[in-house]
Amino acid sequence: MKCPKCKGKLVLVQVEPINDAENAYVPYDTIIECTSCSFKIRAESFTILGSVKDFDMNQVEIGSWSPSGSRVLSKYEHIIDYDLLKSLKDSAELVEFLVVDDQVVQVI
Ligand SMILES: [Zn+2]
Repeated sequence: MKCPKCKGKLVLVQVEPINDAENAYVPYDTIIECTSCSFKIRAESFTILGSVKDFDMNQVEIGSWSPSGSRVLSKYEHIIDYDLLKSLKDSAELVEFLVVDDQVVQVI
């Protein structure tokens, strides 16, 4: 993620879970801050437990489950390293993806 003001590096500075037992995803209260200027935004992020089904340079398709147990495929923009996605797809490993504003920013 790049700063919209100065193109500097953005970091997640605060990630606290929002308690909501009914939600399939775990939402987090997140503050995203630029390391070079004063830019700061507050966003809601969430994590998805799933595996990489497919990906390209811009989008990743994640296979996960809905609360009722049926398979769900979700597509998101991503900024994840290509080699990491490739190894996750090859292994079909279940991992947790951190999604901020519909963009996968981190594999936890
Ligand atoms: Zn900045």
